[in-house]
Amino acid sequence: MNARKISILGSTGSIGRSTLDVVTAHPGKFDVVVLAAYSNTELLADQCRRFRPRYACLVDSSKINELRSRLGDLKVELLAGKEELVKLAGLDEIDLVVNAVVGAAGLLASLEALKKGKPLALANKESLVAGGPLFPEIIKKSGGKILPIDSEHSALWQSLTAGKKDEVRRLIITASGGPFRHLAADKFDAITPARALDHPTWKMGPKISIDSATLANKGLEVIEAVALFDMPVEKVSVVIHPESIVHSMVEYIDSSIIAQLSSPDMRLPITYAMFWPDRMPSEFGRLEIEQLSGLTFEPPDLQKFGALRLAFEVAKKGGTAPAVFNAANEVAVESFLSNSIKFTEITDIIDRAVETIDLVSRPELEDILEADRWARELAHQIVESSTC
Ligand code: NDP
Ligand code: MG
Repeated sequence: MNARKISILGSTGSIGRSTLDVVTAHPGKFDVVVLAAYSNTELLADQCRRFRPRYACLVDSSKINELRSRLGDLKVELLAGKEELVKLAGLDEIDLVVNAVVGAAGLLASLEALKKGKPLALANKESLVAGGPLFPEIIKKSGGKILPIDSEHSALWQSLTAGKKDEVRRLIITASGGPFRHLAADKFDAITPARALDHPTWKMGPKISIDSATLANKGLEVIEAVALFDMPVEKVSVVIHPESIVHSMVEYIDSSIIAQLSSPDMRLPITYAMFWPDRMPSEFGRLEIEQLSGLTFEPPDLQKFGALRLAFEVAKKGGTAPAVFNAANEVAVESFLSNSIKFTEITDIIDRAVETIDLVSRPELEDILEADRWARELAHQIVESSTC
């Protein structure tokens, strides 16, 4: 079999680097044609030297000359700007697109890849959260397919092969609970970015690490599951599982629960998505089950972690509500990371945005982009008035 031609959007991030590990672990299986990042010229140049893509794209065009000089006389076509990223996602010669961009900035690239009928290995959950209502029609027309990389959705996808859709009682998404599971709610105001970034079981990029600390990440994943598997939110539950070994489960109508287990290593779900429908010999995430001392589960505390409660409400509202939730959260997380707001204000900002939304129930792309713009503006206003 010829090597599959792939593009990796967000190649310099945590998932992007893990994807390149998977490529390296399977010599001859993939030909990296596109590498794209936002502004990290040093790492992108280094990746270009190692993987020799035909195209390298930097979304921050002000850094393109820096990238050019780092690459010297290496033969690679350089592109700059967000429009180029989107074009590259739909490039004819590509067999598989990996979207590992962070935030709703990845949405248009996801849509473009699917419009062109490509398989899309999707880490960028914000695409599905913000643009959920847009995907079914595009996929129906083009024959494109979403191959989820998010570990919980990979686990659900794998567990869903054990039965039929109408035999599913519920999808059970596991959550580690983040670093503040045991911290009293009245101590949340004092949480610093450094503490929130220190996740107990996963090493990830900064945005998703903060999302995991507020449980907004689990909220995004609930909305992602609703969109991805076309399930009503009433059939989606979240359970806290601090060991991060069971990555999610499907409960069927006969009360059987089917789960997927592994050590927490994103390279396993990435491998599964990249080789689907086949399974490849691989050691990433291998679990010595004999060494496990126990697996524990408990319900989430929706009072303490209001972002998760809000996500369930937003998933029920549908339409542009998830786009607003997501955009407000993105601004709030950036503001927390730059010490402009307190940890607790992240959830407050999401709450204000979803309370004041002017909901569009059956949105087109324009409505979603407008909801995203509006929520960002509102969130920025709230941040500016913060006393932090
Ligand atoms: P990182 O912050 O580590 O990496 C983000 C990547 O996206 C970088 O390559 C970055 O480039 C690029 N990027 C940032 N902003 C833009 C933009 N506006 N346009 C285009 N590219 C951009 O994030 P993660 O790898 O942690 O997460 C990526 C996605 O995967 C997120 O949606 C996250 O929720 C999801 N995910 C991540 C998991 C993990 O373990 N990390 C697990 C499950 C899902 P540069 O380096 O130049 O800034
Ligand atoms: Mg996840």
